[in-house]
Amino acid sequence: MPHIQQLSPFVADLIAAGEVVERPASVAKELLENAIDAGATAVTVELRSGGMTYLRVSDDGCGIAPDELPTAFLRHATSKLRSAEDLAAIGTLGFRGEALAAIASVSRLDIFTRVRGAQSGAALHLEGGVPGAVTEAGCPEGTSVIVRDLFYNTPARLKFMKRDSAEAAAVSGVVTHLALSHPDISFRLLRDNEETLHTPGDGSLKSAVYAALGREFTLSLVEVSQRDGAAAVDGFVTRPLNGRGTRGMQTFFVNGRLVRSQLLTAALEEAYANRIMKGKFPSCVLRVTLPFDLVDVNVHPAKTVVKFVSEKQVFDLVYHGVMAALDREAKPDGPAAPARQTQPPRADFFQTMTAEQFRASQGGAKAAPAFRTSVPATAAGELGGKLRLSDCTRQSAPKPPAAPPAAVPVPAPKPREETPPAMPGPREETPPAGAEQTSLLPGTAAPWRIAGEVLDTYIVCEDGEDSVWLIDKHAAHERVNFDRFKAQREPIMSQTLLTPLVAQLGAAEYAAIADRLDFLQDFGFACEDFGGNAVLLRAVPADVDETEAVATLEELAGRLAAEKPADPADTRDALLATLACKAAIKGGWKSDESELRALVDRVQSGEIEYCPHGRPVKVRLTRQQLEKMFKRIV
Ligand code: ADP
Ligand code: MG
Repeated sequence: MPHIQQLSPFVADLIAAGEVVERPASVAKELLENAIDAGATAVTVELRSGGMTYLRVSDDGCGIAPDELPTAFLRHATSKLRSAEDLAAIGTLGFRGEALAAIASVSRLDIFTRVRGAQSGAALHLEGGVPGAVTEAGCPEGTSVIVRDLFYNTPARLKFMKRDSAEAAAVSGVVTHLALSHPDISFRLLRDNEETLHTPGDGSLKSAVYAALGREFTLSLVEVSQRDGAAAVDGFVTRPLNGRGTRGMQTFFVNGRLVRSQLLTAALEEAYANRIMKGKFPSCVLRVTLPFDLVDVNVHPAKTVVKFVSEKQVFDLVYHGVMAALDREAKPDGPAAPARQTQPPRADFFQTMTAEQFRASQGGAKAAPAFRTSVPATAAGELGGKLRLSDCTRQSAPKPPAAPPAAVPVPAPKPREETPPAMPGPREETPPAGAEQTSLLPGTAAPWRIAGEVLDTYIVCEDGEDSVWLIDKHAAHERVNFDRFKAQREPIMSQTLLTPLVAQLGAAEYAAIADRLDFLQDFGFACEDFGGNAVLLRAVPADVDETEAVATLEELAGRLAAEKPADPADTRDALLATLACKAAIKGGWKSDESELRALVDRVQSGEIEYCPHGRPVKVRLTRQQLEKMFKRIV
């Protein structure tokens, strides 16, 4: 039987350190929070090699008295909490008294500190948590902590570190968030001697947002300000038209602390319901202020989770605050943004279709599309029920066995090898529209008759075999693109931009791609790190409209950020699916008939059934189903 023993303080510290100190970004976060708690007005973070070999945080805060300096490095030593009652009303960022002890135990640490107004300061060096002697030091007022060789004594943890650029990006994310939550403090970040962020510390959230997240983002913002008794929310949200493909730029603070909260996300997004395009998410920097006793921050060691005493009150506060802001924004310019985005059809549509031959073969039919002219208007009007493809395009269509009702699956796809030669074949020989058409190859179905397009989204067809088909044009095109990208061995073709674009990413998104910019070349993006969580796009996928390029990159980055250690093939598929979606015509866009014809053709061939996300591209309504709906039969 193993003996039970109390762990030595050294081992206990290492274990505790694992919880608090995961990577350079967590060191930066703890040290910055200490600086903020110390009342600093300006802080500087400096890092080398992503913070692994060197990370310094300097502040002009209250400093630590020389005789208390060793105590600060003991576990559970804090000046911020005295009794259990204090826990109920935490107003500082730190309170566990763990950070300095934890960081010191896994690094070589130097601290220089001078109490405001004191004659001189003090210095202390710790090696793996073991302190040397406190010495007198001439240093500025405030505190500087330098952490070198992080995890030098815990090689197992060292292995988990990502590349320097990813670690640096994560530190940058931490600094960005803290800078946004404390606009009254000036934050500076130096990365390998280069200043990548500097906020003015003038107290204005907007100037902090501008400095940390860039001009473009700031221009898209609407101000939020709402109060409900002692609770309040303020900050900024993006205009509905500036929706992004991910939630990466949603930042929430509760009492100055960055939090992740499904409740807050839901309240925000609920306010955008019916205002924002499907699949787009609002961005925000929102600060919720609550009386300290109405929120519990002590539920998670990394402290990004909070518990609200009254969830409904918080939800309503944020929801109504954002609603009011969006309503105000919508009013001065008259009616709100158009409900539907209408864009001109893409001129290069056919570059993305392998059914090009179809278009070539359409020739005369394109000028006079079959569905308008193949049936004499009078007959169509009078005969109603006889308006059937089989009547006008085929003389002897073999009747299939009774179609299974409500079947989404199509008639069995033809064998693959048959498809390429068969497709252009019959069409090349299709007589000009107007003339009676005959299916020339036995077993090849005549083209579906396109009855039209409804809601700018669904193509309505009939197949001449007593079924009506509804085709989601976006889903279908998305699938066509996806299959084409997937079959391709070379990298996705890109177009070089005349003027490079800047994609301002969320910290997590940026961290996910910062060290994989080469990998993105396979997907048609030529990008460079632009610093400050931004990426410069020099070339974008040829199939993606330039106006969609930044959103596409954001979405790819979002996917990579969300990616669990997955099979690389799955990752590739997920990225190609995103690209395919962005390159596809959208519901709501106007499409011309030839575009629709080409799509219908692919769908009819049975090659595509589901979009890459698994939604069906077509739905079938049989005559029988329709007759049932109209109570012609029971
Ligand atoms: P906590 O922040 O939870 O109290 P830490 O281990 O981070 O625990 O810090 C221990 C104590 O050291 C703090 O309570 C504070 O009194 C002091 N301290 C740490 N960093 C600073 C700083 N930058 N300026 C002034 N005092 C500091
Ligand atoms: Mg602390």
